[in-house]
Amino acid sequence: MKTIGLLGGMSWESTASYYALINETVKQRLGGLHSARLLLNSIDFAEISDLQHAGDWTELGARLTREALRLESAGADCLLLCTNTMHRVAETIEAGLSVPLLHIADAAGAALSAAGVSRVGLLGTRFTMQESFYRDRLRQRFGLDVLVPPEAEQERVHRVIYDELCLGRIDDGSRQDYLHIIDGLQRAGAEAVILGCTEIALLVNQQHTSVPLYDTTRLHALEAVGFALADA
Ligand code: GLU
Repeated sequence: MKTIGLLGGMSWESTASYYALINETVKQRLGGLHSARLLLNSIDFAEISDLQHAGDWTELGARLTREALRLESAGADCLLLCTNTMHRVAETIEAGLSVPLLHIADAAGAALSAAGVSRVGLLGTRFTMQESFYRDRLRQRFGLDVLVPPEAEQERVHRVIYDELCLGRIDDGSRQDYLHIIDGLQRAGAEAVILGCTEIALLVNQQHTSVPLYDTTRLHALEAVGFALADA
C-alpha cells in the first residue's frame, strides 16, 4: 500500500472527513483491521483565509509548496490538497513536487463523465465559482458545461462556508438556502451539482435532495485510495 499525503486544515472540519473516508474505504477494500497509510500536514487556516481574501495567491502558492514538500520528504507517495479553493495554486505546487498531486476537480470530472452528465452546477467558495481555474479544467478535460448561481446566491454560499461550516456550525436555515440554490441550478439546466467545497457535505447530502450531488471530498478521498491500493 502506498502512503497518501494530506495537506489539510483548510479547514480541519473537512480534513476530519478525509481521514474518516480514506480509512473507511481502505477497510472496505482490504477488510479486517486494515487502515490507510497516510501522512497529514495540517496548517493554520486563519492565515490561509486572510491571504485568500487579500488576493495574495503568490504567497499562498509559495507557502503551500513548502508544506507539500514537507509531506514528500516525510515519505508521501502522492499529495492531496484537501480543499477545492486552494487548487487555484495547484500548478505552482505540482511544479515543485516529484510525487503526483491528485487534483480534486479531476476526481469530480471523471465521476460526472462516467455518469454521462454534460451540464453541471457548481457550488463552492466565491474563488472556486468565479475564477477560471476550476471551471476551465472541468470544461477542457471533461467537456462539462459548468453553471454557477447568480451573484447574490454565490455570496450566500461563500459566507456560509467561511462563517459557519469552517467553524463547525451546521444551521438548518443555511441548509434550506443551499437547497433552494441547488433547485435553481437544476431549473437553469444542471443535471447534477458539484459540492465544490470540502465542507459542504457537512451541511447538505443526497438525503436532502433528488438532484444528483457530487461530493468532492468523497470523490477525492476515493481517488486517493485507488492510488494507494493500485498495486495492493
Ligand atoms: N475547504 C473549502 C474548499 O474546498 C474552503 C476553504 C478554503 O478556502 O480552502 O474550497
